[in-house]
Amino acid sequence: AKSEGRGNFQFFSHAMNAATHERLLLESRLWQALEQGEFDLYLQPQVDLPSGTLVGAEALLRWRHPELGMVGPDRFVPIAEESGLILPLGEWVLQHAIGLLGRWQTLGLGHLRLAVNLSARQCQGKALLAQLDVLLAAAGVDPALLELEITESAAMQDPERSRALLQGLRARGIRVAIDDFGTGYSSLSYLKLFELDRIKIDRGFVKDIETDPNDAAIVSATIGLAHALGLDVIAEGVETVAQADFLKAHGCDEAQGYLFAPPMPAADFERAASAALDG
Ligand code: C2E
Ligand code: CA
Ligand code: CA
Ligand code: CA
Repeated sequence: AKSEGRGNFQFFSHAMNAATHERLLLESRLWQALEQGEFDLYLQPQVDLPSGTLVGAEALLRWRHPELGMVGPDRFVPIAEESGLILPLGEWVLQHAIGLLGRWQTLGLGHLRLAVNLSARQCQGKALLAQLDVLLAAAGVDPALLELEITESAAMQDPERSRALLQGLRARGIRVAIDDFGTGYSSLSYLKLFELDRIKIDRGFVKDIETDPNDAAIVSATIGLAHALGLDVIAEGVETVAQADFLKAHGCDEAQGYLFAPPMPAADFERAASAALDG
């Protein structure tokens, strides 16, 4: 038994590749990171396609890791989901985002909306609606300025529960968007089940819109479907003028992507938004 144990250990130490090492490095600091204020929200502009005007932003989480530098959410959000940290972290994100909306009222930017990503666990938990009530009231923010983005797959983990949650959000005037639309391998039946404001077309469909007739067909059909259901549409990952032109020609309401601006620190966003107002 003793030698067997040692064999297992050797197996593990060999299997401990770079990815596992990074994971441990991230996981071991994640809880501390929240206490020490290492997280930040970057903001990516969202623009009205017909007019090109700025209408709001999506808040995207960043981690200033003391050894690894700026770490993107794809590397730590899944770990936070598994460990349960996503609940306090998600609450921090909401608090920070609603704080920004409150600040914008005083900066003359009170017309701008802010979209926040929700994790699957936040959708399943019971705390979210009460948290939002407290945070919005404390900041004196109109709930209609806040949009919550929920992926198809997160919403479909427990459709009944999600239905109740989305109804609660909409009853408060908070906007709801389905994120990464079309990537969740679920049927479209949830579009009847859920109360929604809009659909967000995934970057994966936008990327090859000019060259792939299937992607072009999917995008234009999605816009048509959304509008027929009374929903708005925003496209993410718009990088070229040709993509924006296609989306505009097919009636897409809003867009977001590197063509307009990358995610940026809140202060930069506020400066750009104020400058746009001054003309
Ligand atoms: P997402 O919600 O689909 O966010 C869009 C991602 O596309 C962002 O990556 C954004 O920086 C990137 N992006 C924006 N424009 C372009 C473009 O024109 N081209 C390309 N190639 N990419 C573009 P990011 O910031 O790394 O976020 C990755 C994912 O992490 C997000 O995907 C979202 O699912 C998750 N996430 C971000 N912030 C939060 C958060 O506060 N809470 C939770 N639960 N998840 C978050
Ligand atoms: Ca999103
Ligand atoms: Ca996406
Ligand atoms: Ca996503």
